[in-house]
Amino acid sequence: MKWYHKITDYILHCFFPVRCPYCDELITPHLTACEQCEKDIQPVNIFNRTDKMCCISPFYYNGIYKKAILDLKFKNRSDYAKTLSLSMTNALKQYFDFSEFDYITCVPPSKNSYHKRGYNQAELLAKGLSLYTEIPFEHLLVKIKDTKVQHTISDAQERKQNIKNAFAVITQYSDKIQDKTILLVDDILTTGATLEECGKELYKNKAKNVICITYTFVESKEKVIL
Ligand SMILES: [Zn+2]
Repeated sequence: MKWYHKITDYILHCFFPVRCPYCDELITPHLTACEQCEKDIQPVNIFNRTDKMCCISPFYYNGIYKKAILDLKFKNRSDYAKTLSLSMTNALKQYFDFSEFDYITCVPPSKNSYHKRGYNQAELLAKGLSLYTEIPFEHLLVKIKDTKVQHTISDAQERKQNIKNAFAVITQYSDKIQDKTILLVDDILTTGATLEECGKELYKNKAKNVICITYTFVESKEKVIL
């Protein structure tokens, strides 16, 4: 983390104190939780791999981790993102050297969900990861098709079909990502259909390697990419 980010964070902390994403108590910035919750937090750092892609997630989608990510996603707790991204950073560190990556990017939102929520939780997590890893963040992808909300669909194949060809690389970046290694960020890995589709577009534009990272991983037999 760069020195000027530390100073900005200190000033911000005076006006917007950081809260623990698991119990909402005030905490010192740049910790993964408050002292009490820290004792219960047990990252499992799940690593899943296919031929072309892999995904790292510090936690399974259950208990306090599920609540924290849902609060970020649906309860307007965008302030939790930076703290949650620190756990993701620690998980990434178990498997990769940060210098291997050229860019961090995120799964882009649909216009509707962005307007409704006012922020993209995947982008906030990606920016947190960028802060801690010092890998530059770029908006590389855009959503080009209206789709049903993925979490309203339970069938894996239907989810894959729903999200098919929904993303594209932003034109100005199509040359920039050639031979680059990209860290692709999302909040929850369910079937993997969304990450697979985003990864496909990045590879189509000649990215060398795409590594995915999510805060939580839903245990399911119906993985598309895994
Ligand atoms: Zn706590």
